[in-house]
Amino acid sequence: MFQWLAARLGVSLTYEAVHVPADGLAGALEEMRAGRWDGLSVTLPHKNDALVLADRPDPRAARTGAANCLVRAADGRVVAHNTDVEGVVQALAHHGVTLRGVAVLLLGAGGAARAGAAAARDAGATRVSIANRHPKRALTLASAFDGEALPLTAEALAPVLPVTGVVLQATSVGLDAPGDSPLPPGCVLHDRLTVMDMVYRPLRTRLLREAESAGARAIDGLWMLVYQGLAQLRLWTGVEAPPDVATALHHHLAEAG
Ligand code: NAP
Repeated sequence: MFQWLAARLGVSLTYEAVHVPADGLAGALEEMRAGRWDGLSVTLPHKNDALVLADRPDPRAARTGAANCLVRAADGRVVAHNTDVEGVVQALAHHGVTLRGVAVLLLGAGGAARAGAAAARDAGATRVSIANRHPKRALTLASAFDGEALPLTAEALAPVLPVTGVVLQATSVGLDAPGDSPLPPGCVLHDRLTVMDMVYRPLRTRLLREAESAGARAIDGLWMLVYQGLAQLRLWTGVEAPPDVATALHHHLAEAG
């Protein structure tokens, strides 16, 4: 993604994959302070530690409680950002969908759900319901974002789905498993819904196929990946990609599989 963006936008950028073990993030940040990298993308399982170990968080990362992007400031200090929140908001906006004034149902209570909850609250959602397999994790997230916690069961979702405007799917269910859906059997989708799946492999998950069958708007997880990536590029280089780049990048990534 970043090599494609660098070539497309004429930006000088070298992006490499680095394996950092679960207990290795502090060491990686020391290397960053010493100048090995100007920026880092951070993924599982480091998003919470990245916030704690950085020299300072930006306000959105602090509010979200997780960081997915680190920037080395001119003085060598490491600043933690969260671009997943912007990824959620912009992916929806690209499809003409806002979270303002909308009841949001989040499926999942991990790091991605945290970004979804922050996006919903920042945008002014009327209600944030969080359904998770282990309800205790949903409770933790709900108390941080003034939401309601639910078990991920058909009974619990039955009264919520009809009054929901946007479903943000933030569990890892469906990842590399096109036949799996996080929605328990018996849940009924409807045509006033927008369903965004944060899983992007496969592109059309079972949940999105079911949403389309119900007449709902279905948004695949590559849109969030694209927009959180454009935000990372902006933070590292100051380069703002023109609007058509998001669509071209989505197309490129979808083709690349
Ligand atoms: P995480 O912190 O490990 O959380 C995983 C979530 O999935 C938890 O809520 C977990 O529930 C739930 N889950 C896992 N297996 C389940 C099952 N069999 N049935 C029901 N729930 C299950 O992971 P994450 O960082 O939040 O990432 C979640 C997904 O979002 C991943 O697929 C990731 O690739 C995707 N993601 C996409 C983007 C993007 O840009 N599109 C960005 C970030 C993440 P429990 O708490 O009950 O275990």
